[in-house]
Amino acid sequence: MCRAQRIKRRGQSIQPAGKHCTSTVLQHCRKDRGKNTLKDIEKKREYEKRVVHDMIVLYCRKNHKTAKGVLCQQCAQLDTYAIDRSDKCPFMEQKTFCSNCHVHCYQPDMREQIRAVMRFSGPRMIFHHPVTAVRHVILTKREKKKIR
Ligand SMILES: [Zn+2]
Repeated sequence: MCRAQRIKRRGQSIQPAGKHCTSTVLQHCRKDRGKNTLKDIEKKREYEKRVVHDMIVLYCRKNHKTAKGVLCQQCAQLDTYAIDRSDKCPFMEQKTFCSNCHVHCYQPDMREQIRAVMRFSGPRMIFHHPVTAVRHVILTKREKKKIR
């Protein structure tokens, strides 16, 4: 039984999405879980881009001493490259993050750079963006299970 059905059974009305939480009632439905609509895929793409961007910003600020919200030239280049990779990723349906991907589509030098960023920012995300960090771990685990 999905959440929507449970709520109906209790005789309560279903609150529209956005009132009590940001997810829609339908997203809780097991039937619909696992099915990726085109809109979901785009959402995942945007989400991946945002997380990677946050991590690059954090890395740059701590390692290159740039001001908040500014990226040095090298990191800006990496950020643009990462966004471009996400935009072109054909595997968005199966995964949200590159760490779950079996294809490593980054060029070797960019790959080295992004790995350095992940190594640095990964463990620090919990302090700087706790919600994102926890969500990332859960999503990654769930997707890993599905891929196997
Ligand atoms: Zn930098």
